[in-house]
Amino acid sequence: MPQGMTVRTRGGATHLECTATGETYESESLRGLSPAGKPLFARYDLDSLAAEFTPSTLTNRPASLWRYEEVLPVRDAACRISLGEGFTPLLAAPSLADRLGVERVWIKDEGQNPTGSFKDRGLCLAVSRAKELGATALAIPSAGNAGSASAAYGAAAGLPVHVVVPKDTPAPILAEIRALGADLQLLDGLISDCGRVVRAGCDEHGWWDLSTLKEPYRVEGKKTMGYELFEQLAGRLPDAIVYPTGGGTGLIGMWKAFEEMEALGWIGSERPKMFTVQAAGCAPMVRAWEAGDTHATTWEGARTYASGLRVPGAVGDFLILQALRASGGGAVAVRDSEMAEWVHIMGAATGVFAAPEGGAVAAAVPKLMEMGLVDPADEVVLFNTGSGLKYVGMTPTD
Ligand SMILES: *Cc1c(COP(=O)(O)O)cnc(C)c1O
Repeated sequence: MPQGMTVRTRGGATHLECTATGETYESESLRGLSPAGKPLFARYDLDSLAAEFTPSTLTNRPASLWRYEEVLPVRDAACRISLGEGFTPLLAAPSLADRLGVERVWIKDEGQNPTGSFKDRGLCLAVSRAKELGATALAIPSAGNAGSASAAYGAAAGLPVHVVVPKDTPAPILAEIRALGADLQLLDGLISDCGRVVRAGCDEHGWWDLSTLKEPYRVEGKKTMGYELFEQLAGRLPDAIVYPTGGGTGLIGMWKAFEEMEALGWIGSERPKMFTVQAAGCAPMVRAWEAGDTHATTWEGARTYASGLRVPGAVGDFLILQALRASGGGAVAVRDSEMAEWVHIMGAATGVFAAPEGGAVAAAVPKLMEMGLVDPADEVVLFNTGSGLKYVGMTPTD
């Protein structure tokens, strides 16, 4: 093949759409938030795709998120950066199910992604697409794992990455970001403060901002979790999905995937109950859900050792709350000490060494049952979003 030749793939969006106003924009240049300041979603020609993109076409495809190429935005095969992300195992957890008193429990083990967390899915797509659309340097504020994932995919793409994280980010994650060649800046503050530093760098140096939902493609990578659940459950969706929520990209992404799968004719209008789990020391979405609000206010004094959940405000707050309500789900907070306790229970019962965020979702199930939101007859998917190895040395804050 002649050098520089573009090999077109089956992927590609038709346009972008503002999640708040519904206004549409072309999708083939770098775009951040919509003019309304809200996230943009990539849209596809699902009506045309429905005829040829069926579950049976997936059978012999690679075991990575790129198996869903028709509903992913990257067009040029040379820009599909891959480190083997996605298609993580959905593990049956019968002992944990007995312990929880639930009919059927599965663990979606996202700790098995290339950098040990599900951030790889989002950053794989965001970096691939940024490269395709001509970005020359990338930047990200992170609570930790998104920094690792950006560093990894930036390295694989040959693009420089600037990462800004709180100085108390777990040491294994800092070591990883440095080893992957990113420029790392530590800040005495929270992810929101890191975001301000990144924005200044973007304005000054022309870096491309990969912040959660501030570009349209991380959510496209995360949505593949929804497609995977459908495939791995042999063509059905579970009754309940319990998800540790920070910025909410995964929950918003799966909700988008279900909508796409309905338009493709794969599923009907049924949906799993979607549950958000947050830390008691940083629970803006739980507070908004309990108050019946459509948006969340910033959480002051955020504290939790589950660094992925130390997110005091989310630009996609209204999308998270919409999904929780439309699905008949809900939101609940758990203390760090409960997360740690359930990391041990889950580990001993299943063989999965979960991140605190994974412990949090297990800890949430008894609470959700008490609230009458999860039924003993339910089939429940627990998201372990990261590997426990990345948090070694961190201790619960409450
Ligand atoms: C980032 C992160 C979360 C939160 O994910 P969102 O999609 O931002 O809600 C949960 N767990 C881990 C391990 C994370 O790194």
